[in-house]
Amino acid sequence: MTVAMAQPAEERNASPVTIVIHGGAGALSPGRYSPEEEAAFKAKLAEALDAGYAILEQGGASLDAIEAAIVLMEDSPLFNAGKGAVFTRDGKNELDASVMDGASLNAGAVAGVTKVKNPIRLARAVMKKSEHVMFAREGAEEFATEHGLEIVKPKYFHTDHRWDAYKRALENEKKKKESRQPRDFKYGTVGAVALDANGNLAAGTSTGGMTLKRYGRVGDAPIIGAGTFADNKSCAVSSTGHGEYFIRLTIAREICAQVEYAGKTVDEAADDVINNRLQKLGGDGGVIVLGADGDYAMTFNTDGMFRGVKNAVTKEVAIYGE
Ligand code: ASP
Repeated sequence: MTVAMAQPAEERNASPVTIVIHGGAGALSPGRYSPEEEAAFKAKLAEALDAGYAILEQGGASLDAIEAAIVLMEDSPLFNAGKGAVFTRDGKNELDASVMDGASLNAGAVAGVTKVKNPIRLARAVMKKSEHVMFAREGAEEFATEHGLEIVKPKYFHTDHRWDAYKRALENEKKKKESRQPRDFKYGTVGAVALDANGNLAAGTSTGGMTLKRYGRVGDAPIIGAGTFADNKSCAVSSTGHGEYFIRLTIAREICAQVEYAGKTVDEAADDVINNRLQKLGGDGGVIVLGADGDYAMTFNTDGMFRGVKNAVTKEVAIYGE
């Protein structure tokens, strides 16, 4: 199933100040969650949108807006980022995040951190306070301590529902080796893109990665150009899905390149990259894309994607494909 959600024509350019968020894509079809669970997801998405949009509305920077929205989702056990992250094969939580500023093309990223409460804040600190773009594991944590970021015990990230899912995944893996059934996956990465009143775009992504990942595996979320990209000349993108495919296709950069060089709308570019290129390679997932003119797309080739958008004329949150 392929779904592309673009914005209705009447909304375009009505008010460019916009925030778009996602909370992961995957095997999300109606009936997957109880009405109470759906309501909880939607309420948290709405809260994240409101937090980010409030900053934009007051003339704040798009970087501040995406950080505020992502921190709320990292702190929520509902999503696979920060508290509520999935478990590695060794039963640990290893977190990746990145951020990019569309005005300066500055970027910051961290991979495999285990005790920094909000990896998105750390990614931003790397962008702002170091001459480097990316730090990994203990080095990233040392940088976090030196710069006063909030440090927690690794068990802070533990949630019972992810632990149960980890145990089930281990069991299923054993069974599937015998029966070779397809994997039932659901991602839960979080991301945000925003356009502020000064015309600056920003993008950020934060994740626990994929259940049962091993050997220090790093996905697309902290890779600039794959999981995150922002350039005021084209668009801002945050990705979620099977990271290996997103890295190989440099999904986020590819979408912005199509907008910049081929003159495509954000919807056309996202549609080509997700429903054509990613699909053909055999990968799945989705993206949120926001253009320099406020045009946006929420495109995925999975059954659903936790997502939401807010600008002066619309506020919408959704889970399933339409
Ligand atoms: N893209 C993430 C990764 O591969 C997973 C996700 O989006 O949920 O690490």
